[in-house]
Amino acid sequence: MNYINSLEFARAQDAQDKLRSYRDQFLFPQHNGEPVVYLTGNSLGLQPKTVREYIGQELDDWAKYGVEGHFQAKHPWFSYHEFLTEQTARLVGALPSEVVVMNQLTLNVHLLMITFYRPEGKRTKIICEQKAFPSDQYALETQIRLHGLNPDEHLVEVGPRAGEHTIRIEDILAAIERVGDELALVMIGGVNYFTGQLFDMSTITKAAHQVGAFAGFDLAHAAGNVKLNLHDWGVDFAAWCSYKYLNSGPGSVAGAFVHERHANTTRPRLAGWWGHDKATRFKMEKGFQPIAGAEGWQLSNAPVFSMAAHRASLAIFDEVGMDALNEKTTLLTGYLEFIIDELSAAHGNSLEIITPRARAERGCQLSVVAHGRGRSLFDALTQAGVIADWREPNVIRMAPAPLYNSFEDVWRFGVKLGDAMK
Ligand SMILES: *Cc1c(COP(=O)(O)O)cnc(C)c1O
Repeated sequence: MNYINSLEFARAQDAQDKLRSYRDQFLFPQHNGEPVVYLTGNSLGLQPKTVREYIGQELDDWAKYGVEGHFQAKHPWFSYHEFLTEQTARLVGALPSEVVVMNQLTLNVHLLMITFYRPEGKRTKIICEQKAFPSDQYALETQIRLHGLNPDEHLVEVGPRAGEHTIRIEDILAAIERVGDELALVMIGGVNYFTGQLFDMSTITKAAHQVGAFAGFDLAHAAGNVKLNLHDWGVDFAAWCSYKYLNSGPGSVAGAFVHERHANTTRPRLAGWWGHDKATRFKMEKGFQPIAGAEGWQLSNAPVFSMAAHRASLAIFDEVGMDALNEKTTLLTGYLEFIIDELSAAHGNSLEIITPRARAERGCQLSVVAHGRGRSLFDALTQAGVIADWREPNVIRMAPAPLYNSFEDVWRFGVKLGDAMK
């Protein structure tokens, strides 16, 4: 694509955009009577207009039926999570029996690690990425401690080489090979939250399996952002949240994946009544009989309001599909990259994109180091009606979301960033 930094060009791209109409299905915060330039879909996605109606239906059914809503509601609460299964399976490239919507992300990471991290003999170590999202770091550290082990010895971090920002896949593979038969689990963010780097999950999974370890992924920044094929890649387990790219509202319900080959595993797990065999769940008898597949890791009955919001959002994703979203991401994030590079060149190369340049190694997000700049640059952007994300000391993270961001948004961002840099 030959990009041009002009309003005319941006509008011409928007006019050709097959997903253009979806922007109207979202609610944009306003700034001085205009929609903000919203580039934080990687942090909290915007609200689909249909969410109000989906939640309203459940409020109405609760008012009308009380407890009978479990069976009488239009979408009976008893099996509400099942109304999310098919779309979720398509979203992450899984079989329906391999996915379940439940709980929240960090809890799902813990539940799955209880099953898939069982240090035994010399096979005790976990490989993770350096500077993983703090919640993941705490989860890994405390899972290791739960087994009476010391994270300093049993958690192996792979980081960027000196002077580099992203992690080389060959370094991850070398670490897997090196740790070898001491490796129990590789647990990495599918897309790194800080740099936006997308990892080759298929290759990492194969390498982990080759040394006899499991591979699990935190997909918080990957679900709804990049095309996933969890089943074909052979990933053992994964978890993700629904409020970032998946636009399902603050703290909304999360997802989990367990590969078919573990559907009937006898490995330990933490159980609750919702994971128990549906036929006998209400007999309330002793003896846990898990449902085969991902549903068998459920603990509690469905949080219907957040699931309703998630259902509204998944309906949009299912209609559009990840292929169409990915096509637009290539062009839209490419345009943002072009504009940042142009601005950087005009300002002494002071903006350094640390996200990989290769499309195969990134999704929507670009992370930029603003050399020689501080928080005041970011504050000026905020004042100008741009919502992006600032990480101390000088990194700006931006993610144009293909469902609702336009080329004009990206162009307007460039103008405002240019003004802020003057
Ligand atoms: C956003 C995010 C989380 C947040 O965890 P919650 O349990 O949803 O609060 C955890 N891990 C990663 C990698 C994230 O990006």
